[in-house]
Amino acid sequence: MSVITYSAYAQKLQEMGISRSVAENTDLLKAVEEIRELKQQKRAVILSHYYMSAELQVTHANGGVADFVGDSLGLSVAATKVEADAVVFCGVKFMAETAKVLNPSRKVLLPSSLAGCSLAESITAEDVRFLKKKHPGIPVVAYINTYAETKAEADICCTSRNALAIAKALPGDKLIFVPDQFMGKNLQQRVKAETGKEMILWEGSCEVHEQFSPNQILGLQMMYPEAELLVHWEVPDDTVARTLSRSGGILGSTTDIINYVAESKAEQFILGSECDLGATLRGMYPHKEFIVPCIRCPHMKQIDIYRTRDALRALGTEREDLFRIDLNETVIQGAYLPIKRMLEFA
Ligand code: SF4
Repeated sequence: MSVITYSAYAQKLQEMGISRSVAENTDLLKAVEEIRELKQQKRAVILSHYYMSAELQVTHANGGVADFVGDSLGLSVAATKVEADAVVFCGVKFMAETAKVLNPSRKVLLPSSLAGCSLAESITAEDVRFLKKKHPGIPVVAYINTYAETKAEADICCTSRNALAIAKALPGDKLIFVPDQFMGKNLQQRVKAETGKEMILWEGSCEVHEQFSPNQILGLQMMYPEAELLVHWEVPDDTVARTLSRSGGILGSTTDIINYVAESKAEQFILGSECDLGATLRGMYPHKEFIVPCIRCPHMKQIDIYRTRDALRALGTEREDLFRIDLNETVIQGAYLPIKRMLEFA
């Protein structure tokens, strides 16, 4: 790695709150260098989610490996534009599947087969067929955190960024929203108040966001009375109701949170979302302070820089199928329409 790239990467990591000894670790820097070369040799790009560890969030332009860093909606849009032969997806399986559905002629590799999601696993295509039979004619909105087979049964998908707009725009006075019960309850309050619509919910939950309890946030608000609160839609409605109005802040998607900090005059924020979004925020707003109860997604953390390098090494070899996302044509076609409808709200 050239000295310039090396120092830019290490400096960016330190801005994101990573210690100097980790940021300048020789093994890490060698892996980054190899990934950058492999991407070029094998015509691959890396799409990386904001919940990845900081090492995978530094962009290629800053000496890192990611060609695009974003939330689920941003990554979906980026997947439609990929011109390289292959995508290495630093996120979880449902995200890599979405990239495959949107750009099926490209190879999509997920660096760990263990990168699942408690929400995606909480509901199957069969469950959605059951709901549709029980509530005939009611439109089904599937959160992007579902597997492709489940999406194929929905009328439209949504991400946390466009869920509210989609729920409000759908025809009729009811809708089925799957699978996150807490996001559903948080949305329902706004949707009902603004349109009078009822939402039929599923009982899934995110194992990270469901851990933000009222007492934990209230305790932090007492310790940091000047701080504003940044809470994700997937945080339990009870926690949101008891904390947000005390300090001000936002209930929203990852991108809503990032944009809110840019606009806010506050200098201190309590984050109610995945731990590594704290690294993203520190990197973007180095002069603001973020108090982060560090709850990490165990699925996202299955992927690190070394597994990403392994996936790239395997690309184009007989080991590639250990990482490659394969979906059958029926599932791709079935999931495409609800995802495409979602992108009209991007
Ligand atoms: S943070 Fe929650 S919703 Fe996101 S991948 Fe992890 S378990 Fe799934």
